[in-house]
Amino acid sequence: MLIRKDAIILKSYDFRNTSKIIHILSSDSQRLSLVAKGARRTKSQFSGNIEPLNLAQLVYYIKPGKSLGTLKEANIKNGHQLLKKDLYRLNIGWSLIWIGRKIPSPMDGLFGLEKRSLGFLDKGFKEEVLIYFFFSLFKLQGIPPQMDKCITCGSKELDYFDIEGGGTKCKKCASKESLFFTPLKESIESLKKGRFQVWKTMNKKDKKEILQITFKYGLYHLGDWLNSLKNMLPFEITP
Ligand SMILES: [Zn+2]
Repeated sequence: MLIRKDAIILKSYDFRNTSKIIHILSSDSQRLSLVAKGARRTKSQFSGNIEPLNLAQLVYYIKPGKSLGTLKEANIKNGHQLLKKDLYRLNIGWSLIWIGRKIPSPMDGLFGLEKRSLGFLDKGFKEEVLIYFFFSLFKLQGIPPQMDKCITCGSKELDYFDIEGGGTKCKKCASKESLFFTPLKESIESLKKGRFQVWKTMNKKDKKEILQITFKYGLYHLGDWLNSLKNMLPFEITP
């Protein structure tokens, strides 16, 4: 049975003499591998359509019990050309689809998140997209930081953030490891919702701190596999 679905191309590599294998994240957030036969021939219908970072409508089939399907058609819906022309944003884009490839259990909503985030990068946004991406990912994974009350006593005075505890703390409950959070809280709330204007108004130090907190939180709650991300991004996310 032929399946027709939108998908983001996560990876593509040569296979045998003339073909390619692509790894995709389909619109129902499944990861699949497909062989695109003859894709390296100059007149292939696939040429240009199955590059990583593309959003494309694919037609394919997978025989029961097989892990590798066969691609029949690929129609590009968004090639994210502007993002691909800018090395800085391209590296952020690569990092986002790398997470899509590596996250141990892809969950509902991951496709939509990747699609929206690549769209934001294509429009010219940069580091702020990574923060949006991560906070949305934490939510999809069921591990969003609690940021509306102190995670220990429930107080509404939220001056500190505790990575291991998973959210904000009041002054009384804060430990040595808690980070002073007051100047960052509102900015994070905006970025989480994709309100990126706030990023332009922030100073360098606060930006760096938000990136570090976001990455640290991800590392602690999503797992060590995320560690390689720091070598892929075009900016520092560790102290
Ligand atoms: Zn407290």
